[in-house]
Amino acid sequence: MPKKYYIDTFGCQMNVHDSERLGGLLDQAGYEATSQPEDADLIVINTCSVRERAEERLYTELGMLPVGPSGQKPIVAVTGCVAQQEGEALLKRGQDVDLVVGTQALSRLPAMVDSLAQGTPERVDINPYDNVSFPLGVARRHDPVKASVTVIEGCNDFCTFCVVPYTRGHERMRPAHEIVKEVGIAAREGHREIHLLGQIVNHYQAPDIAGCDFSSLLELVHEVPGVERIRFSSPHPRHVTPRMIASMRDLPKVCRHLHLPVQSGSTTVLTRMRRRHTREEYLDLVDNIREAIPDIAISTDVIVGFPGETVKDFEETLSLTRAVRYHSMFSFKYSERPNTLASKRLQDDVTAKEKTRRIVSLQGLQKELQADIHSRSIGSTVEVLVDSTSRRRDSELAGRTSGNTVVNFAAPKDILGCFAKVKITKSGPFSLYGQLVQGTTTVRKTATPAEAIQVHSR
Ligand code: SF4
Repeated sequence: MPKKYYIDTFGCQMNVHDSERLGGLLDQAGYEATSQPEDADLIVINTCSVRERAEERLYTELGMLPVGPSGQKPIVAVTGCVAQQEGEALLKRGQDVDLVVGTQALSRLPAMVDSLAQGTPERVDINPYDNVSFPLGVARRHDPVKASVTVIEGCNDFCTFCVVPYTRGHERMRPAHEIVKEVGIAAREGHREIHLLGQIVNHYQAPDIAGCDFSSLLELVHEVPGVERIRFSSPHPRHVTPRMIASMRDLPKVCRHLHLPVQSGSTTVLTRMRRRHTREEYLDLVDNIREAIPDIAISTDVIVGFPGETVKDFEETLSLTRAVRYHSMFSFKYSERPNTLASKRLQDDVTAKEKTRRIVSLQGLQKELQADIHSRSIGSTVEVLVDSTSRRRDSELAGRTSGNTVVNFAAPKDILGCFAKVKITKSGPFSLYGQLVQGTTTVRKTATPAEAIQVHSR
């Protein structure tokens, strides 16, 4: 009987996609996926340390490990950012941990599991590797509608708060031919929406086609048969060029949504963060984007309570938020990440109480803005790609507009994976509600969801 594996994933979309690729590698090695950890002979905990107290979370998880199917403890592998950061120390502190596999050594997991079985265990690999690619088409995608495709791994920017350049290593561009082939495979499997991933996705320069930048890559992906929507994350504001804005405007499959992380509305704080743009440059960029694409939805990331952030700096974040009117926002209280320049050079001097006051105030403002933006959609008809059942009611489905707004509506489950038009009747700060317009549903394409990948998103 084949051995079974279970993957538990923390963190961002990049980590979720790494788990999909790990799942595919384990399938190729003869394992079978299970969605029940107690049935697993191998448990993989794929960790993230960008935005959470991942270590604490990992140890909680390790304390709750089930006994395997034969009454034996399963093999436990910790992969991802915390593995990269902690290395051998994880074996000592987490006594149930058998293998530690860093972010750049992920594709070695099956070989390392084998080495355990053969009694010659290689228990830790956190080495840097230049080639971090996976075999083409290996990903065991968990979402039947949308498919992530990595275009860049790592980052060279070293923003002072960010752990990514330390955990994921230097920036490596994937050949454009490979990306296009993988998009083709995903589209043939029935995935209608392609999500291009990179730490600074719009810094892309193809290593295999001279002059092929991110805009050219969008054009190439746009031509792949079966692709109906294209999203990407995350771009850096300083690499959003007029050419990129024009591509977004002119390519109809590119969604009318841009995630544009700002992090702070104060130029003083942005300088300390090493973001390499000012408040004014960011606001000018937003104006240029909206002039070219008036219906675009812009979302962002913000950190409050960064070292040295004064009340005045924070108020600049509030005023920038009001000025931009973001469609959505991920906001976080600053906390130190190991090895980062901020943790070494800057004092974490905003009190916990003050950070809480600031985030409550920012999130309150953002909620008001979102409620106002959403209320303006009432009475309109929007097109959504139906991608899930509603979180609140089983009889409801949910889809996303091109601008990434969630729309809930009653409809039969067999339209999952279809495009449909919905008349908006009600709005809230986080989503819209409406009625399916009969006769507007497109034919569904099929893709099989991979069930074994458990995702805890941020
Ligand atoms: S651009 Fe800055 S925030 Fe983004 S991954 Fe690179 S270092 Fe981190």
